[in-house]
Amino acid sequence: MLEVKDVQFSYHQASKAQPLMRFDLTVKAQSITVIEGPSGIGKSTLLHLIAGFLTPLHGDILWQGQSICHMPPAARPISMLFQSDNLLPHLDVWTNIAIGLDANSRHKADNKMMISQSLTDLGLAGMDRRRINTLSGGQQQRVALARALVRARIPRILPSSSDPNSMRRSLVLLDEPFSALDPDTKADCLALVKHMVFSDGITAVMVTHDPADAKNLGAEVFSLKLNS
Ligand code: ADP
Ligand code: MG
Repeated sequence: MLEVKDVQFSYHQASKAQPLMRFDLTVKAQSITVIEGPSGIGKSTLLHLIAGFLTPLHGDILWQGQSICHMPPAARPISMLFQSDNLLPHLDVWTNIAIGLDANSRHKADNKMMISQSLTDLGLAGMDRRRINTLSGGQQQRVALARALVRARIPRILPSSSDPNSMRRSLVLLDEPFSALDPDTKADCLALVKHMVFSDGITAVMVTHDPADAKNLGAEVFSLKLNS
């Protein structure tokens, strides 16, 4: 379970013009939650707080009962897909996906197969060696999704832990990832997210503008309102 407990945040000193943003929500593990709300309400801010790129002024964020607020972003059990993802344009598809994995994990036969499978699932089979800057915007966004999902599937190898599951980035945060895709590709991507949640025990939190997404994903909906 993900718990965002009475989290308060402001980019500036809170003022009348810019009051504190407040967030309170609970997400069941192995489920999909869609975050909706008007532009500028704080949807991306909420995901950045969960991922650790921003620090709450108040409150706590817990994953499976443990506070993750003190953990640096890289140590959190989180894989994130941004609105405009930071792929490395001069490197190929395969490298962009494998780069988030430990060197040991990257070369394991099982994991190579998993990367190939996710490329096939997303209609990118045979494109492993294409450089990112030779792909269309939609293809690039699918590579970014493949990377987020592969990171969520493959455990990190951290010497301090004996439990591989604790090292999985099994919480996937998606910030309007599919808004630029054509309807068919978007449907494929949503289906893959859904499949991964139910087959791999991933928990997904996705910001979207499209009310149909929550329905297609069978997701819980959390609406952000002013000072909710
Ligand atoms: P949403 O994703 O719901 O559209 P955001 O979380 O991006 O909204 O933004 C919430 C509010 O915070 C907006 O008023 C936005 O202008 C402001 N904001 C977002 N990012 C920054 C930033 N880096 N610095 C200052 N203000 C920001
Ligand atoms: Mg946003």
